Amino acid sequence: MKQFQYVKASSNAGVITAISKPGTKIIAGGTNLVDLMKRGVTAPDRLVDITHLPLKSINITGKGLHIGALALNSVVAENALVVEKHPLLAMALKAGASPQLRNMATVGGNMMQRTRCTYFYDTAMPCNKRAPGTGCGAIGGINRMHAIFGTSSKCIAVHPSDMCVALAALDATVIIAGPKGQRTLQFTEFHRLPGEHPELDNHLATGEMILSVEIPDNNFAKNSYYLKVRDRQSYAFALVSVAAALDIQNGVIRGARLAMGGVAHKPWRLFEVEKSLIGKKPTEENFAQAAQLAMQGAKAYEYNAFKLKLAPATIAEALKHASGLV
Ligand SMILES: Cc1cc2nc3c(=O)[nH]c(=O)nc-3n(C[C@H](O)[C@H](O)[C@H](O)COP(=O)(O)OP(=O)(O)OC[C@H]3O[C@@H](n4cnc5c(N)ncnc54)[C@H](O)[C@@H]3O)c2cc1C
Ligand code: SF4
Repeated sequence: MKQFQYVKASSNAGVITAISKPGTKIIAGGTNLVDLMKRGVTAPDRLVDITHLPLKSINITGKGLHIGALALNSVVAENALVVEKHPLLAMALKAGASPQLRNMATVGGNMMQRTRCTYFYDTAMPCNKRAPGTGCGAIGGINRMHAIFGTSSKCIAVHPSDMCVALAALDATVIIAGPKGQRTLQFTEFHRLPGEHPELDNHLATGEMILSVEIPDNNFAKNSYYLKVRDRQSYAFALVSVAAALDIQNGVIRGARLAMGGVAHKPWRLFEVEKSLIGKKPTEENFAQAAQLAMQGAKAYEYNAFKLKLAPATIAEALKHASGLV
């Protein structure tokens, strides 16, 4: 591993100044960044440790539930406010990684974690995300874990997070600080599709850091479910996952939120499917129809065609769980 400098940040302003310089990266829990450094995928000159900044709080504000960027995944998953108001988020977090990793991983780090595409991690292989212009090893390679939505000729990787799928479904916003001050972004707009620039995972500009996420109040707590399909029951990334949240009143769906993981370069929100469910009864038939609608525009590669069947089946199953049918 390349030698690097390590500094502890004492203020947000100090972090922003530091990361505005090329070669400097934030380190939070380190559970992704250190792996990438050990493998030579990334080689920063300087790390800024932000773990002493006061960005760990979880509290109610006028805008909903506010979760600091340094709140640990395990703490968020067990927090009483999260469990009561947004159980979908707690379920998604508990489906991720292992208890040990969740004890180190932070909300900001989880959002910023990089793809698990094996070609991205293997520095002997071409990868436009790691080394722009070298090609994509996965397109003609082993692409079983890869995307079926929103791909480009440059990259077909997926975003690996579970937490982010729930936050995308729950209409969360991201609060960002940078050299130009603070700004807010819809969570669904935070991550990018690969397009011509797969080296960019999200819309954070140079010098910007994540301060927190906010989830607005909703009526989904009673009827929500996170379903993750993976090769092993624990400690494995999603082949397909679905965050489903329903507002059911008098036996009719009044509101729906749906997002998928394991299928795109970003959490894949299903806006059209949500609309199609409004006014319908929560039945197995209606869920199966809605799930088929979600597949418009899907495109498979040599080894991931199974996702074309797995994805709608997972949506339908998640909706059944959310509505209490199973
Ligand atoms: C074996 C293994 C299995 C895993 N399984 C899963 C899984 O099933 N589901 C899942 O969702 N995740 C999984 N993960 C990933 C894990 O959730 C992430 O590694 C973790 O969330 C990253 O958080 P961190 O605080 O450790 O980030 P770090 O490793 O410290 O940082 C990651 C990136 O985020 C940047 N960063 C950190 N904080 C900020 C901030 N506030 N503002 C701007 N940039 C920031 C860093 O610069 C770095 O680029 C797994 C990881 C491992 C190692
Ligand atoms: S899919 Fe993306 S991350 Fe994977 S090899 Fe291709 S360019 Fe790299």
